[in-house]
Amino acid sequence: MRGILASSIALYAASSALGALIPYSDLKARGYSTPLADCLQTAGLDPVVEGDAAYATDSSPFNLRLPWKPAALVYPRDSRGVSAAVKCGAKTGVKVNARSGGHSYAAFALGGEDGHLTVSLDDLRTLSLSGTKGTFGAGNHLGDVALFLWENGKRALAHGTCPYVGIGGHAGQGGFGLPSRAWGLLADQITSLEIVTADGAIRTASKTQNADLFWAATGAGASFGIITSFTAETHAALDSIAFAYNFDGYGAARASEGLQAWQAFANDPVNKLDTAVGLQIHVNPGSSPSGVVFSVSGVYYGVDEATVNSTFAPLLEKLGTPTSTSLQKQDWITSVLYLAGVNTTAQLNTTLAPDTHDTFYATSTFVPEAAPMNQEASDALFEYFYGPGANTSVAWFAIFDLYGGGDSVIARADKDTNAFDARDALYSIQYYGTIPASVSDADGIAFIQGMKTAVESNQPETQFKEYVNYIDSTYTAAESHKRYYPTHTDKLKTLKDKYDPKRVINFPQDF
Ligand SMILES: Cc1cc2nc3c(=O)[nH]c(=O)nc-3n(C[C@H](O)[C@H](O)[C@H](O)COP(=O)(O)OP(=O)(O)OC[C@H]3O[C@@H](n4cnc5c(N)ncnc54)[C@H](O)[C@@H]3O)c2cc1C
Repeated sequence: MRGILASSIALYAASSALGALIPYSDLKARGYSTPLADCLQTAGLDPVVEGDAAYATDSSPFNLRLPWKPAALVYPRDSRGVSAAVKCGAKTGVKVNARSGGHSYAAFALGGEDGHLTVSLDDLRTLSLSGTKGTFGAGNHLGDVALFLWENGKRALAHGTCPYVGIGGHAGQGGFGLPSRAWGLLADQITSLEIVTADGAIRTASKTQNADLFWAATGAGASFGIITSFTAETHAALDSIAFAYNFDGYGAARASEGLQAWQAFANDPVNKLDTAVGLQIHVNPGSSPSGVVFSVSGVYYGVDEATVNSTFAPLLEKLGTPTSTSLQKQDWITSVLYLAGVNTTAQLNTTLAPDTHDTFYATSTFVPEAAPMNQEASDALFEYFYGPGANTSVAWFAIFDLYGGGDSVIARADKDTNAFDARDALYSIQYYGTIPASVSDADGIAFIQGMKTAVESNQPETQFKEYVNYIDSTYTAAESHKRYYPTHTDKLKTLKDKYDPKRVINFPQDF
């Protein structure tokens, strides 16, 4: 991997790739042959194709609802291998997609339709630190990155909570975490990256080198090539207080008032909320009289309990007395574990245990700072949560993540910092539902979409954007561009024409 200085520490380069169980040459001898697989084999990339015993496992998506069948999967060991794979896709007319953690909600690393070439980055797992700059192979997952930084100088980055989410999709499309109001999205913390573009060229991109490509790849990364490594400016890891205020006694009306109070508190222009606060609302079915639990929670970095108590006193005056409260003082890595819902640092090392799967549909809403959710919309949303939501076998949750408010680094950055197109957001709402076998796909999807409709139909004057990392598998390309990149679509299309005129790297919602 390029860019690792002699003074840097290169810790572990673990391999979790499965790879072919039957060499492609053996399959070929048995009569199986395609131009793509032949090209990959000639390039030294033993492809996994249908017929190989590893194919079913290697092509299994995180979201089992979308089991696309790739034409082949490869596991290159370096950027040159990635380049060779991209060239084979281009030469044989097979569309190519990168897979980092494989957590795309639409399984777009498998193409989002049958017949693509998946370039799995499982073997690009180098991690290094040079001064305050960390460089990470694009096959690393968030848990591995957090653990490496902590163990090598107590450094940290703002990123999402799930250890198994890959840095490739996450940083390529944004990447929100609880410290993001202070440090920005993961994409904002990237200072340079190495990327293989559709022509097979291995390029370095930063604000000063291939700046247009860097702009596009930090926000719309999936469309512009295969990023092989990311370099990021890290931060000193901070102690924090994790807080949670649970309101089991709420019904719909009280919860709607709670949201109104929460967003006013978060967006107060006079008493600005400290950027060191990561703030959420969680709503999900649970053991409460109404069958639904509402909680306000988050992490306040670099402060003591007294500051947490005084900061949230005005909000709690409006929310009422919680049915339970928890305040937990923790060092940085304990906060990473807490947010991930795991207990030991070994659980952050994703090379030690396989990933899990789910069968789900999710979608999202960004609520703008300039147009917070109005009373009708929040009433309708919570009536939905506490009504149909209390009587469904879809295992759903909704998470409200504060992006803006106060001097949030996400919201105050120039709106064209990178391709991420929602710097005007006050908060995101993720609506997520695991669909059991007893519920049809269509009914499960419709149930989750009912949440978003409750908001949109009661606030029609607002053009709500959505978060591309919670990519909605039901969107057409046109709809997705409108939702994810409303002001950046034209520029992204122009850059796609420049870097990938033949649409070699491609998925159904691409430019
Ligand atoms: C359990 C769970 C928790 C999550 N929590 C958060 C959270 O806290 N905050 C948040 O912001 N998001 C969160 N997400 C969403 C997550 O950020 C996205 O699903 C993300 O895109 C996954 O990245 P990946 O590399 O794992 O997925 P993949 O499926 O590998 O990739 C996603 C997309 O990016 C492309 N891609 C992957 N690697 C590269 C690369 N190296 N170069 C170019 N394109 C690439 C793929 O082709 C695909 O289109 C969560 C998702 C899950 C499943």
